[in-house]
Amino acid sequence: MDIEQFRKAGYQAIDRICDHYSSVQDRPVRPSVKPGYLRNALPSAPPIKGEDIEDIANDFQDLIMPGVMHWQHPSFFAYFPAAGTLESIIGDLYAATAMNPGFNWMCSPACTELENVTMDWSAKLYGLSEDFLNSTNVGGGVIQTNASDGAMVAIVAARSRYQALYPEVPTEKLVIYVTTQTHSLGLKAGLVLGLPVYAFPVRVEDNYSLRGEDLREMIEMDRADGKHPFILIGTVGTTSSGAIDNIDEIGETLLDYPDIRLHVDAAWLGAAFSCPEYRERCRVPAINKYADSVCVNFHKWGLVSLDCSGLWVRDREHLTRALDITPPFLRNPDGESGTVVDYRNWSLALGRRFRSAKLWFVLRSFGVEGYQAHIRKSIRLGEIFAERVRQHPETLELVTSPSFSLSVFRIAPSAVPGVSEDELNELNERYYQNINKRKDIMLTQTKLNGTHCIRFVTGAQNTEPHHIETAFRICFETAVASIKEFME
Ligand code: PLP
Repeated sequence: MDIEQFRKAGYQAIDRICDHYSSVQDRPVRPSVKPGYLRNALPSAPPIKGEDIEDIANDFQDLIMPGVMHWQHPSFFAYFPAAGTLESIIGDLYAATAMNPGFNWMCSPACTELENVTMDWSAKLYGLSEDFLNSTNVGGGVIQTNASDGAMVAIVAARSRYQALYPEVPTEKLVIYVTTQTHSLGLKAGLVLGLPVYAFPVRVEDNYSLRGEDLREMIEMDRADGKHPFILIGTVGTTSSGAIDNIDEIGETLLDYPDIRLHVDAAWLGAAFSCPEYRERCRVPAINKYADSVCVNFHKWGLVSLDCSGLWVRDREHLTRALDITPPFLRNPDGESGTVVDYRNWSLALGRRFRSAKLWFVLRSFGVEGYQAHIRKSIRLGEIFAERVRQHPETLELVTSPSFSLSVFRIAPSAVPGVSEDELNELNERYYQNINKRKDIMLTQTKLNGTHCIRFVTGAQNTEPHHIETAFRICFETAVASIKEFME
């Protein structure tokens, strides 16, 4: 491909991206394809001779796109949002100009320095303490691929610090703490590192958030049992219900156990830190006071397209001591002078994409006010849905208090008097399956302490109140039909 062919194909790609995003709302949210549809449609081996780029682009439109789920659709209310933006796409395109792996400052100074600056900008946007700024040269921020990698890096750093303090403690005695509501990234990290993961049960009456006294009791018990907890993963905005751990109580408790690090996973809810009125409720002051590291995914609610996950640490040396491996071919005078950041020592992978470009385009084009407006709008829309549920107590109920833009609901026990909790769960499972048969709306299910329920979360940029009203009508009518079907 020469440059002129690239220009032509590039313009065509941009036109098609524009057509896609300007009409996505007119299409079903979910694809209608069956498993294996693409394998059946594509040849079983790559072509021997190179093919025309236009044919490939046409096949992308005709074969690949029909199998795509539209996470940016205004009626996508599942999982957590992937609220990527056009601004982010532009940033990613410009990042392609650099197309280099940027692992050391020397590899491409701009890539490292823009990451450094944008991570400080976003720390300020989110109201994080100065301790987390790169400009301190003590703490700092780094872009990870995702929250799971961020947690892994925090755990590896905490383990390394603990083992430096207590070299006599056998590795198999080390323990990672999470709660039953922590994202599966905690269990995954334990799996990869070969370490046990202890999950604290959390109570319905505490809104599924961890309390300081429970933590103290567990630490004392586990220590008496010869175990060595070395990190706790707290969550601000759990996946199932948006629960917020009591970071203040946890932090106060951990002051008595300074060997145990605190990592805060705010992968989804962290974007709401951008609005000062939500910071207290999101425990930002406590994060600033006590957390050793905190993660916020820009690529969830934060307007940047996948992948782009912020990790801020209070002490960068804990990362670099754990992760710096410098073979001769990676040595360079800048890195050894200690005057630059080599981000390969802050993450698991060596090569890294130029992700800060898209973050920079988003932060500049939205500005603090535009970013806040997006978050406040999602929360307002989420409140409309929660209110509609409350208005129909004879049919539906909120299972726990709504958390910002996330509501968790189910068919209410009063809709089917006399049925057992198991039967109610069975009914709600069927209710979810009935919603899930539809292509025009997308929601996900979960279980909260054994209760089967459905999650509804807003965050797509182009969702408007009428999409919420339509979604609620679908949820309500499907509930009525599911109850009727159950009773027959
Ligand atoms: N943490 C929370 C609270 C989440 O809800 C999720 C995913 O939904 C994750 C972490 C995982 O994020 P990632 O895919 O970036 O690893």
